[in-house]
Amino acid sequence: MPVEIAVIEGDGIGKEVVPAAVEVLDAVAATGSIGEFEYTYVDAGDAVLAETGEALPEDTYEAAANADATLFGAAGETAADVILPLRDAVGSFVNIRPARAFPGVDAVRSETDVVFLRENTEGVYAGHEDRLSEDLSTLTRVVTSSASRELAEFACDFVEDGRGPDGSEGFTVAHKANVMRETDGRFRDEVLAVAAERGVEADEELMDAFATKLPLDPTQYGVVVCGNLAGDVLSDLAAGLVGGLGLLPSANIGHDNGLFEPVHGTAPDIAGEGVANPTAAILSAAMLVEYFGYVEDGNRIRDAVEAVLTDGPRTGDLGGSATTTEVTEAVVERL
Ligand code: ATP
Ligand code: MG
Repeated sequence: MPVEIAVIEGDGIGKEVVPAAVEVLDAVAATGSIGEFEYTYVDAGDAVLAETGEALPEDTYEAAANADATLFGAAGETAADVILPLRDAVGSFVNIRPARAFPGVDAVRSETDVVFLRENTEGVYAGHEDRLSEDLSTLTRVVTSSASRELAEFACDFVEDGRGPDGSEGFTVAHKANVMRETDGRFRDEVLAVAAERGVEADEELMDAFATKLPLDPTQYGVVVCGNLAGDVLSDLAAGLVGGLGLLPSANIGHDNGLFEPVHGTAPDIAGEGVANPTAAILSAAMLVEYFGYVEDGNRIRDAVEAVLTDGPRTGDLGGSATTTEVTEAVVERL
């Protein structure tokens, strides 16, 4: 049975980097063990809103919900209206964001190699905001034991499967339970309890202290487990340490579905010129391949990308003058 992939290019450079990722998936299918991919092309984003009146049409939502996995590019102004329901469509409960420095790419901290596992359904992003008066607005923060434990079980599997940075045998949970004693206290307690039950090493760090210590010495950390907001902010901090958002992939994982997307947005300043760096989208495809258990094939993609980053060709953001297509062809050749 072919693996069914919903493909949503979206806006801006999504239209350029997603086809690059698809080309790499096909090259992996032709040369690896994963078998064939079958693609369903659907769309979402600003252009779709202008055309149809809906940023995320029903058939796109359905395609994502029914596929084995979804490859997504980027959406402009409508990003929140697209990506939040899409994460819901795939039943995603964890967002995986690796931040590793790349060979030949300027980095603030080239020794950085961390993977964030971010809770993807609750916290302050669960959406309970209210305007109570002219002067007063409130936000309700949602933390459940069940979601905290599910994330922790995933983190334990992740380190046990050797998917963390080299040699990670445990994880760090970053939180602010000294202030948010009830919500982050529950989160921290449940995550550490699951780790103890599973016999996985886990330590904890206050998120503010973490934000100081990570840039000072990123080698202290490997797999980092966070709530929704903390994971969002801290993973962006780590992205800054390894050279920005343009190269980094992410995955939203559900129970029998996943959504894979570059961390960057639509890059309107370079969209349509064919010069976008496809690396983040291609590495998102590598995470997709790994999600189906083909760790070897995922590593092959990563190795090919790193070889191209080292030897070129390179796109403009990395000081080169190559096109998206030239870089993609170079990666495919290496495969
Ligand atoms: P959005 O609102 O869609 O997030 P943005 O203006 O914030 O758009 P980003 O996509 O977040 O743009 O990118 C920020 C900067 O990084 C831009 O200058 C963009 O050109 C650059 N950039 C992002 N992704 C890439 C890429 N894949 N290749 C080259 N440059 C990129
Ligand atoms: Mg942006």
